[in-house]
Amino acid sequence: MKAVAVTPKQVSTVRLVEMDRPKVSDIPDGRGVLVQVLRVGACGTDREINNGEYGVAPGGFDFLVLGHENFGRVVEVGENVRELSVGDFVVATVRRPFGTSIYDKIGQQDFTTDSDYYERGISRLHGYMAEFYSESADFLVKIPPAIAEIAVLLEPLSIIEKGLKQASDIQERLKIWQPKTAAVLGAGNVGLLTIMALRLRGFEVHGFARSKREGYLNAKLCEAIGATYDSIAEIKVVDSVNKYGQYDLIFECTGYSSIIFDAMQSLNENGILILASVTGGDRKTDQVPSDLINQMFVLGNRAMFGTVNANREHFEMGVRDLALCEAMYRGWLSRMLTHKVEGLENYGKVFEILNNSAKFNAIKTYFEVAKI
Ligand code: BGC
Repeated sequence: MKAVAVTPKQVSTVRLVEMDRPKVSDIPDGRGVLVQVLRVGACGTDREINNGEYGVAPGGFDFLVLGHENFGRVVEVGENVRELSVGDFVVATVRRPFGTSIYDKIGQQDFTTDSDYYERGISRLHGYMAEFYSESADFLVKIPPAIAEIAVLLEPLSIIEKGLKQASDIQERLKIWQPKTAAVLGAGNVGLLTIMALRLRGFEVHGFARSKREGYLNAKLCEAIGATYDSIAEIKVVDSVNKYGQYDLIFECTGYSSIIFDAMQSLNENGILILASVTGGDRKTDQVPSDLINQMFVLGNRAMFGTVNANREHFEMGVRDLALCEAMYRGWLSRMLTHKVEGLENYGKVFEILNNSAKFNAIKTYFEVAKI
């Protein structure tokens, strides 16, 4: 079968490789499921891996099959799989509990403390940019056919669901927390999905990103779902509080790390700031009003935390939000699926769009590997 792979830590090595089709019996205890890949999304992490900045090949291989944003159909199940049947649609989670930490042992591998973690398509495990994959049923989430068209958005959404779940867990420190307003920093596909998830929870949401509002599809999508959009070229987040008030919750997903100091100054009392950008560069900033920020956090009981990856429960939360969003804002999610590329052999096109997403006005670029 065909797969799209790179040589990790080398620049621009993306290519097609030929591999054996995986088998249900590759997975122990009769828990294997063979999945035909239908769609695979591409994101900044895939771009960074192809730029040689990130990614590790599995043991015994000098290449890594890319792809972690996945959607497929079950074609065969092992004898101990009861929860899935042939023909079901599924999305697989990304990280596996193959580390040594206590969190791996209790199935919370998304909180692993190991620096060598196992993620399909990213680190030490092949990914889903292939015609088929096999996996344990434990890591597959069933998708209702009614949301098949948009289910390739579930993996990025799972990251947000984990962030929001943790925010509400942390805020249990307050016996009562009734957040009303949120700022979302970044309006790419993660930012837009965050805005969606917060709108479904009834927040007044304010989206921010670099691009000018006029003619920007992402800004239109913010507004179509009842959020505002402002360009940070025109108004800094810290100044936006004069317009919208301080925010009860801020979700940062710009990839531009110095904005977090602005965000810290824009939080309301008892508010919470969620950091979700993976920033592999070495950017530094020195214009930080540290006394003010420290004072705000101490006197206002403010909180900030980082979040990565997602576990099964967060994918399941995401399934419910995709369905609710379709019910409340029909067709909105499909508008995020801006660039479909048919066939794994057209990986060059996917990476061209990924590397020039502003030029292409791309929100989500994905492979259609096989028809739904
Ligand atoms: C993926 C996560 C992963 C993270 C760090 C993200 O792009 O969505 O599943 O944990 O990269 O590797």
